[in-house]
Amino acid sequence: MKIALIGYGKMGKEIEKIAQSRGHEIVSRIDPVATGEDFGDGNFEKADVAIEFTIPKVAFSNYQKCFEYNKPVVSGTTGWLDKLPEIKKACEQEGQTFFYASNFSVGVNILFELNRHLAKIMNDLDDYDVEMTEVHHTQKLDAPSGTAITLAEDLLEKIDRKKEWKLDKGEKESDLVIKAEREGDVPGIHTVKYESEVDEITIHHSAKSRQGFALGAVLAAEFAAKNKGFLGMRDMLKF
Ligand code: NAD
Repeated sequence: MKIALIGYGKMGKEIEKIAQSRGHEIVSRIDPVATGEDFGDGNFEKADVAIEFTIPKVAFSNYQKCFEYNKPVVSGTTGWLDKLPEIKKACEQEGQTFFYASNFSVGVNILFELNRHLAKIMNDLDDYDVEMTEVHHTQKLDAPSGTAITLAEDLLEKIDRKKEWKLDKGEKESDLVIKAEREGDVPGIHTVKYESEVDEITIHHSAKSRQGFALGAVLAAEFAAKNKGFLGMRDMLKF
C-alpha cells in the first residue's frame, strides 16, 4: 500500500517505521515544519490512504483536503470533535472514508470494552463514586485526552447518577471528574476508579511507548483502504 503521512512528528515517525516493516511505502510526508512537503507537490495523489496525526486546529482542514483528492483518511489527532457531524456527513453523502480513533492501541480498546461492562454493573451500586485520571507528556495540547473523553462518554451513557464530565474539579455529585496530569514523556495512562467506604475498584491502562498507537493506526489504514464510510476501532477489532 502507498501511504501519505500528514504530520511528521512523534507519531508520524513511529507510524513510518511500523508501516515500512509491514511492507508499505510512504509516498508523502506532509508537514510545514518537519518536511515542508504539501498536498499540491504531486506526491500526495499517489497515496492509497492518508494517515493524519497533527494538531487540533489544523486537523479538520487536512481532512477536507484529503476528501478533495477522494483519499481515505485515518486520523488520531484529538481535540477537534466539534466538527464530527461534518465529517460523518461527508462520509454518508459524498462517499468519503474516514477512520477515527481517540486511541489506536488495542490494549486501550480492551479497556474501553471493560469500562462499558463495569459501568453497567456499577450503575445500581450507589455506594460507589467514580472518577477518572489521565496522565500524558508535557507537550500534549489538549486536556482531558481524547481517550479520557471516550471513557467518560461511555461511562455517562451507563451510570445514571453521573450527568456530565468536568475537568479536574466537580461542582455537583452528578459531575464525573477527570483529573488531567502532565509530566515528563508519558505516552498515556488512563484510570477509572470506583470508590466506596469499604473498597476501591480500578481499571487502568498504561502505554509503555507510542508503538501500540502506531501499529493500530497502520492496521486501521489497511482496513480503511478496503472498507468505506465512517469507520472506527469497533468495526475493525470486532469485540
Ligand atoms: P507532535 O507534536 O510530535 O507532531 C505533530 C506534527 O504535526 C508536528 O510535526 C507539526 O509540525 C505537524 N503539523 C502542524 N501543523 C500541520 C499541518 N497543517 N499539516 C501537517 N502537519 C502539521 O505530536 P504527536 O505526538 O505526533 O501527536 C499528534 C496528535 O495525535 C495529537 O493530537 C495527539 O493527541 C494525537 N495522538 C493520538 C493517538 C491515538 O491513538 N489516537 C496517540 C498518540 C497521539
